[in-house]
Amino acid sequence: MKSVKLSLKMTTQVLSGAVMAVTLWTGAASSADEVNLYSARQPFLMAPLIKEFTAKSGIKVNMVYLKKGMLERLKAEGANSPADLILTTDVGNLNNHLNADVLQATKSSILEANIPDQYRHPEGKWYGLTTRARIIFAHKTRVKIGEVTSYEDLAAPHMKGRVCTRSGKNVYNVSLLASIIEAKGEAAAEAWAKGLKANLARKPQGNDRAQVKAVFNGECDVSLGNTYYMGLMETNTKKPEQKDWAASVNVIFPNQKDRGTHTNISGAAVTKSAKNKANAIKFIEFLTSNKAQKIYAEDNFEYPVKAGVALHPVVSDWGTFKADDLHLSNVAKQRTLATKIMDRVRYDN
Ligand code: FE
Repeated sequence: MKSVKLSLKMTTQVLSGAVMAVTLWTGAASSADEVNLYSARQPFLMAPLIKEFTAKSGIKVNMVYLKKGMLERLKAEGANSPADLILTTDVGNLNNHLNADVLQATKSSILEANIPDQYRHPEGKWYGLTTRARIIFAHKTRVKIGEVTSYEDLAAPHMKGRVCTRSGKNVYNVSLLASIIEAKGEAAAEAWAKGLKANLARKPQGNDRAQVKAVFNGECDVSLGNTYYMGLMETNTKKPEQKDWAASVNVIFPNQKDRGTHTNISGAAVTKSAKNKANAIKFIEFLTSNKAQKIYAEDNFEYPVKAGVALHPVVSDWGTFKADDLHLSNVAKQRTLATKIMDRVRYDN
């Protein structure tokens, strides 16, 4: 008996105000030489990776770029979802998919060899592909060398009125707080969040880059942000003012004398609905290859998850650092509590 063909409308999706060119679904969801990808990672980054993979494997990648709403879409589509795998950033987003039961466990000796244990789910339900550290940007002259060396310093009395951050609901900040819960316990983490809130120069607002702009403008002296944003600012020829923001701050990898810097991932996971599971695993394996890891490093200033792959020169200029050794799967489990703490300290109010 012939299987029912999925009728998938050809659409151009309008996402967050921007029109994104997407590969269109035109046929059945299962095919020997195809794989269907939902990606929260941008087309500019994915295009060279997909091109390389298809050239090497003969497997066509149908990608839908979903800046927002991926999980809602997967839940709505259920078992009929055409998606075989997802790509997204932060273990928080991966964990939300895990909790919604839209992912499945997979096993791959290649992935186990290429990805350090702490950056992949213990049962293979998600895999880290790149890492990014959540670091401190400190004004070059207003912050003295040694004045801020840890996340804890940001919450100390001497930083009163000198800190800018984005929302306490932001996925990156929730994961950072979750890592502090995991490392030091709930009470210490809540005291930290309270201290950080008390030190804010302004109400939380804007994205990671907007905090560095605020430091540049003199609104505050320090901010929190992910490493790749520094690379994007330092090299931004389209918006050269961002080079000035970047030039006004030093990069500080927090907690080098103790537990290390909170380091998160961008990652991939195979969906529960996958019809092309083997191809999905092949694609994830490819994304951890030397060639793909180099593309991530060169095009988006990320740290390769695989050992031995060269960094972008801009990134290596920041120096080496010690990442904390917490398993991100355990950090992810503290995210619900982290969100509650952010609410309890009224972080955004
Ligand atoms: Fe980001």
